[in-house]
Amino acid sequence: MFPKNKKLKLPDLSKIDHSQLTYLSWNDLRSNKKFIVYELDGNMVGIECKFTPTSKKNYCSVCNCLGEVAYFSTVTKAKKAKNPDYYKSIGNLICADSSECNKKITNVDYLITFLRNSLEI
Ligand SMILES: [Zn+2]
Repeated sequence: MFPKNKKLKLPDLSKIDHSQLTYLSWNDLRSNKKFIVYELDGNMVGIECKFTPTSKKNYCSVCNCLGEVAYFSTVTKAKKAKNPDYYKSIGNLICADSSECNKKITNVDYLITFLRNSLEI
């Protein structure tokens, strides 16, 4: 799922409350990365994002609630044939605490669109 992160440390899944889990996400604060895993069309897909804490309150783009947010961005797989160096970065605000976000999320449209855009699926 994360080919560039072979030594990726996965979160302790036993500590996660599955009943309130819409998507799986965890932060690697050492490298300022955020990982998001979601079951899309029956397949588990994952993206790696750059994670920038803001320590400000704003609306999360995933759950649409006001709370403490962080800025996350990822590079899409979109490529332009004539320009191999081209890459497109997309990003938005997301709850700093993804377990809180999971509790508040009622609509996964944004999350799905974001995953589809970044993975080109
Ligand atoms: Zn949220």
